[in-house]
Amino acid sequence: MQDILSAAEELLGPAVKVERNRDWAVFWCPFHDDAGRMGQGGHPNFGVHLVKGYWKCLRCGASGGSLRSLRQKLGGSDADWVPPVSVPRPTRPPSQVGLLDEALSEARSALQPSPAWTYLASRGVLPYTALVYGLGYGLPRPRVHRQTQDAARRSLMVRKDGSWLWAGSVLYADPPSHPTVLNVRYLPEDLLPNGARTFTPKKNHKTWGDRLQPLGSWRITPATRSLIVLEGFFDLLLTAQKLHQLGRDADTVAVYTNGSSPSAKMLDWFRLHPAYEYILLSDPDPAGEEWIQTVSAAIRHGGGQAHAIRPPGRLDPDEAILGGWWPSEI
Ligand SMILES: [Zn+2]
Repeated sequence: MQDILSAAEELLGPAVKVERNRDWAVFWCPFHDDAGRMGQGGHPNFGVHLVKGYWKCLRCGASGGSLRSLRQKLGGSDADWVPPVSVPRPTRPPSQVGLLDEALSEARSALQPSPAWTYLASRGVLPYTALVYGLGYGLPRPRVHRQTQDAARRSLMVRKDGSWLWAGSVLYADPPSHPTVLNVRYLPEDLLPNGARTFTPKKNHKTWGDRLQPLGSWRITPATRSLIVLEGFFDLLLTAQKLHQLGRDADTVAVYTNGSSPSAKMLDWFRLHPAYEYILLSDPDPAGEEWIQTVSAAIRHGGGQAHAIRPPGRLDPDEAILGGWWPSEI
């Protein structure tokens, strides 16, 4: 018995990329000249679901429900076909970040006297913006009731020594109450008082919970016409701040995908909301280009329109906006 990935690789050759968090493997499409654009800025467009076995090409639209049908379409015979087994990845306990409002309140009340306040100012985030998004400062040991502490533990947010993994961060909950996602940006070590963080984070950011929709989309109202889509949290804050300064909050909302590989559910959200005009502001790196491809494919797949804009001077959107740039198209 084979798993789905090795069965797919037998049919298609080695996967270009395996995205375990989405149960998805990406290949060059065998049904159109996908690989022909390899090395010329081309991206693989063909995906196989590693648990369910369905497959589709984002470019030419070839799709099917199983590896058996893929094998048939590629001209293989059915005679010696043994269906692959799906190997589910180990399951995490379900996130309970929606039960952390008590701890969020404490984090918010701690923001103003904390080093996160100075850090936000240094990144150009005004108090108004921090308030609108309900930003907080991650305290190492929030003084909360037992049930809140248990919910944090079940969401894998508490270390064995009892300190919280959000310690020493700027903290954002999306939506701001009963959140589905918690996102932190760790402050640089040298800004923290002694003992504020007893561990060294692997990256400068971390996320808990389930990314079901673009973050920031709780600000969408019936009057919203355009969505500016960004990759990162500070890109969101600076874009939203600029929209407010321009008096554009009513018709335009900024959202972010929390990294350059949006979750499958988030891509579904874009596909299912074709009525907005989408403007994608990317980071100036190869991952940003790939992000544009992935997100605009999902939007177009749903019949919507997406327009990509690259900030000038190879700057990230937040830096470009702080430097005075703003796209004339918006
Ligand atoms: Zn194709």
